[in-house]
Amino acid sequence: MPGTQTLLLVGAGHAHLHLLRHADRLRAAGWDVVLLAPRWFDYSGVASAVATGALPVSDGRLDVAALAARSGVRHLESLLGDLDTGARIATSATGEQVTYDVVSIGIGSVTAGGGGPVGEDVVAVKPLARLQTLVDRLPAHAAATVSVIGGGSSGLELAAQLAVRDGVARVRLVDGADRVGAGLPPGARRYVDRLLAARGVEVLTDRQVTRLEATSVTLADGQVFEHDLAVLAAGLDAPPLLERLRLGDARGIPVRATLQHVDHDDVYAVGDCAFFTPGPLPRVGVHGVRQAPVLLAALEARGRGESTAGHVYVPPRHWLSVLDLGDGLGLAVRGRWWWGGRGALRLKRRIDRRWIDGYRGTA
Ligand SMILES: Cc1cc2nc3c(=O)[nH]c(=O)nc-3n(C[C@H](O)[C@H](O)[C@H](O)COP(=O)(O)OP(=O)(O)OC[C@H]3O[C@@H](n4cnc5c(N)ncnc54)[C@H](O)[C@@H]3O)c2cc1C
Repeated sequence: MPGTQTLLLVGAGHAHLHLLRHADRLRAAGWDVVLLAPRWFDYSGVASAVATGALPVSDGRLDVAALAARSGVRHLESLLGDLDTGARIATSATGEQVTYDVVSIGIGSVTAGGGGPVGEDVVAVKPLARLQTLVDRLPAHAAATVSVIGGGSSGLELAAQLAVRDGVARVRLVDGADRVGAGLPPGARRYVDRLLAARGVEVLTDRQVTRLEATSVTLADGQVFEHDLAVLAAGLDAPPLLERLRLGDARGIPVRATLQHVDHDDVYAVGDCAFFTPGPLPRVGVHGVRQAPVLLAALEARGRGESTAGHVYVPPRHWLSVLDLGDGLGLAVRGRWWWGGRGALRLKRRIDRRWIDGYRGTA
């Protein structure tokens, strides 16, 4: 009978945005849908360009409250504070309680530690709302030195973009591995190496950071480098909240292929905060996006009292990702295939705009 079971969505990440848009299908399957999430969602596809001031914040910002209202979903504008999986009660950070039948958690990730103490004024890549303040933290004088710690996708994007930004004189990119862009195909890696060299980025590889402060970075070999601003981009972990709630650990909430918690059939997890036990997945938006229709179909079946066993997530072997390297250049990669240049960035902007407009009700 419609409307007799409560589905609580925690976090408005990629997968849950899709469920919000299709809330009518969930209602038709018998769910009363409740969302517990902050008002704003910031889209990571444009995060580095927003952080360096190349795009305005509004280009990547979605009004979750407006989407929930359009979809007829009750929205508690807060964060998850506590979850009692036995009693099936969620408590928000502001103290409101929701009794649910099924909960789905999609609260994203946090920045992984840099290998030692990290000072308060260091800008980490997550949360994105704080990364957006990067450009305002650049010193007023026109010759800033910036250290970026971590040579993965977000560290590469930020180092490459900062190197061509007015007011930045010097960019240092530090990584513990023997090369930056380790996940890229060899030709794409060489493309990035050449681009960083042409922009004067100082790349320090095989260097472990032992301390990162707002004004200096200390390496394991004792070297200390000074800077005006430090950016921590050393990878992504699941939020520590999950460990406190005994739902998972830094790898995430352990889920089966059905996206259900390994020990709790009533708890689903998606995106960066999920630890996909059939085979760990990298923390990229594509998984949240592609898990969404699987989760939606599983919940529709469950609401109608049908079997959900067939609704499993099969991760794609390859997917397109495009780095924004600044100055109008992009690097598109899919498996071993890659393509660098202006067309790659134009493609990225088109894909990102279409995705975000889809949730603004303007597409
Ligand atoms: C600088 C940067 C650039 C990136 N660029 C790309 C890219 O171009 N392409 C790509 O595929 N990936 C990119 N990534 C990775 C990407 O950010 C993540 O993989 C993706 O955002 C994960 O999606 P998600 O839906 O799991 O979580 P998110 O998109 O992080 O959404 C989670 C939501 O949950 C909310 N939330 C958090 N805690 C709580 C709580 N306690 N209660 C309720 N709600 C909560 C958050 O406010 C957020 O809106 C980038 C990452 C960074 C840091």
